Parts: sequence; C-alpha cells; structure tokens
Amino acid sequence: MANNRLRDLRARLRDRRLDALVTTCLPHVRYLSDFTGSNALCVVTAERALIVTDTRYKDQVREEAKGFASRIAKGQLFDELPASSILSKARRIGFEHALLPVAHLNRLEKLFPRKRFVGTDGIVQSLAAVKDATEIAHLRAAAAITDAVFGEILGLLRPGMTESEVAAELSYRQRRRGAEGDAFEVIVASGPHAAFPHARASDRQLGTGELVVLDFGCRVQGYHSDLTRTVAIGKPSAELRKMYRTVLEAQARALDECRVPMRARDLDAIARGHIRREGLGKYFSHSLGHGLGLQIHEDPKLSAKSSAVLVAGNVVTIEPGVYVPGVGGVRIEDDVALGTDGNELLTRSPKDLIIL
Ligand code: ZN
Ligand code: ZN
Repeated sequence: MANNRLRDLRARLRDRRLDALVTTCLPHVRYLSDFTGSNALCVVTAERALIVTDTRYKDQVREEAKGFASRIAKGQLFDELPASSILSKARRIGFEHALLPVAHLNRLEKLFPRKRFVGTDGIVQSLAAVKDATEIAHLRAAAAITDAVFGEILGLLRPGMTESEVAAELSYRQRRRGAEGDAFEVIVASGPHAAFPHARASDRQLGTGELVVLDFGCRVQGYHSDLTRTVAIGKPSAELRKMYRTVLEAQARALDECRVPMRARDLDAIARGHIRREGLGKYFSHSLGHGLGLQIHEDPKLSAKSSAVLVAGNVVTIEPGVYVPGVGGVRIEDDVALGTDGNELLTRSPKDLIIL
C-alpha cells in the first residue's frame, strides 16, 4: 500500500521538478509510510525514503514503515538529516509551507545552506483525497459505529439532560463499540444554542420543544467518521419544522445530484440554492462539506469558492445547515464515498425528523 503511495508521490515531485519532499505533518507521514508515532520527520527522494523519530518508536517504526529507512534521533529530528545523507544529491527540496514551522525551515536552511527549499502546497493532500478500497473499508467501519451510537442515544435523550451528559454518552459509547476515540470534540447544541454552528457542549439542559444538533464521529485505524443529526425534544414550532424540512431537502438534492466528475462548487450551489429559495439563504453560513480520511477535514473542500473537481475515490461529507439567532439551528450531515458507478452512503442513520 505505502509503496503505491511513494510511487505516486514521486511522480508528483517529478512534475514539480523537486528532488525531495520533507514533511513533519503526522497524518501525511502516516499516509505515506503507515507509521503512527507522534513525533516524526519524513523525507522522500526519487530513490530513498526515510523516517526520523525518537527512541520511544525505535521498534515500532521498523515494524510499521515498510520500505522506509529509519533513524532514531537523540535530539532534534532535523539534526539527523546531514548524517543520513538522504539529501546529498537533492538540489530543490520541497517543504509544506502551510504546515512547517518557520523555526524548522530556518533549521533546515542552516543545516543545508547550499540547497534550495521550495514551499509547496497540497501534494500529499491531493494523493490522500483519493481513497483506495482499504481506506474506504476503515471509513465505512467508523461510520457504522457512529450510526449505531446514534441509534442508542435516541433512547436516552430527555428534557433536563445536559448537553455535556449527552456528549459524554456519545463519546463513551463509540469507544465501547471499538472506536479508537472521537473524531473531534463532540458537538451537542440545543435550543437557541444550536444557532452556533460549532457550539461546544455545555451544562445547558435540553428543553421541551427544542431541536438538538448532535455532531460527532470516531476513528477506526486512523480514519474518521462525521455524522450530524438534529432531533426534537417534544413537538417543535412550525418555524423549526420548516427549517428542518428545508435542510433535509437541500441535503437530499445534493446527495442525489452528486456525481463524478463534478465541480465541488456546483454541488455546494445545489444545496445553497434550495435553502435560498426557501428564504433561509442568509442562515446557511458555512460550506457544504469537506473531504474525510486520516484527517477530519481534508480535500476536496465543498464550498462556493472551491476549485476542486470531485472524482471517484473522494470521500466527502454533505452537511447543509441553517442557524437562526435566538431561535435554533438544524444541520444534517452524511459521509459519502464517490464512485464512477454511483456513490456509497457510509452513514445510514434515519433523517426524517425524530420527535422524542
Ligand atoms: Zn460533523
Ligand atoms: Zn463535517
């Protein structure tokens, strides 16, 4: 698996006339090498591939990172590079300019004063955006755990329960079903609090007649799930029901019309256009969705400004929402694997408004 990725990475480096790529971004290191340690530097050239890590990972790096040489640093990881000689023939060396700290770039330039360090963006991201069957299996497994826990939580929600209690149940129950951990900090936002798209779970109690936004996910083999459902505690007002119906229809349209190849911004426009026609356009304040993989937010981005073209193997979220200040919020989010012969919906939780 990692060998294919190195081959593809090397082709991208050749296209950009780069002799090497240096990365310290851990999800990128993992993507390229399968190494899961928490401290690593990875260098790939046309012939060689190296991981530098620390003594904690001495055995693990050999076990996991097949096809990579490894060095164990006693001090700074970068200081191992001259002795490794991996960059001896390289002239133009790419680094990830949005991800590498300035201090590390300064260190590299000091260690290799005659070499040219070239800022790059999106090389590994563009490879990671297209998932293989194994990756999709991990994403599917993560989504299945999240779906199962959504089913369980419906039996627990009642007025008076705090958002934090609900968040703790979601987190605990995913773990108990085999997740490695939460995909991100669980969002539970009720009543007017749900008008903040990324509200933190608080000690606010769920009230009757309110909508509750539950946005949560987990990790399996490093791969993330990301699900949002909005449920009602007791019968909601006509205004809240209209908000719900509008978001549900917008999401259904986007799911229905999502195909490859397609411009990501056109998909965003399908959902956004529906919400606008229903008079709620100004309350849909974020983008339609994002890629999902070893990171919770990956390429391709599904937004009005995105230049991405959706292709087979992309796994994306589709998550329109409306947030009316002082009233409440609705978001509905699913994870979808895009394919030439149709898409696979990874999250399967029900979406008709559930009134508890
Ligand atoms: Zn989410
Ligand atoms: Zn999301």
